[in-house]
Amino acid sequence: MRWITGGGAPTYGEIMAQRTILEFPDPRLRTRARPVTAFDAALGTLIDDLFETMYAAPGIGLAATQIDVHQRVIVIDLSSDRSGQLALVNPEILAREGEASTEEGCLSVPGIFDEVKRAAKVRVRARDRTGAVLERDYDETLAVCIQHEMDHLEGKLFVDYLSDLKRERIRKKLDKERKERSAHVAAPESRAHRAY
Ligand SMILES: [Zn+2]
Repeated sequence: MRWITGGGAPTYGEIMAQRTILEFPDPRLRTRARPVTAFDAALGTLIDDLFETMYAAPGIGLAATQIDVHQRVIVIDLSSDRSGQLALVNPEILAREGEASTEEGCLSVPGIFDEVKRAAKVRVRARDRTGAVLERDYDETLAVCIQHEMDHLEGKLFVDYLSDLKRERIRKKLDKERKERSAHVAAPESRAHRAY
């Protein structure tokens, strides 16, 4: 998930293991993630990479599904100084309360923002990177963000809440932008070929 406007500009010059973020309508985003069973160094590396990939995007939340790792791990940080790191492993929603409609965006659906209705408050049980169980109530943006990221673990995207017509328009728009991006990359090379 990402902020609607600016914030969290990417930081360069650090050692990062950034992974590629899959984009809608990539079918791999539809994979249901498996529970984590080993709380080992590999899990720690996955969590670190998720944070680095999220910060570089920049975004405020990322699920392992989005980097093509189908394990139940999500990371979130709503702060602008990396002080709000939350990594949830095998998260479950124990209770939901109220309703909130929020304009959401997603790193896998770049440049698209739309209103989604979700529970206003959630009680969540999860494990941290060491395997310790945590159980907490979340509200406001954190509650929305947790629900958004947990949907990714089920192979669900926020555009699934929109009408078929809207989703198809988004798919076409992203497809067109991807084509334009690859055309821009190809352009200098073709000029270079002509230059000799
Ligand atoms: Zn997302």
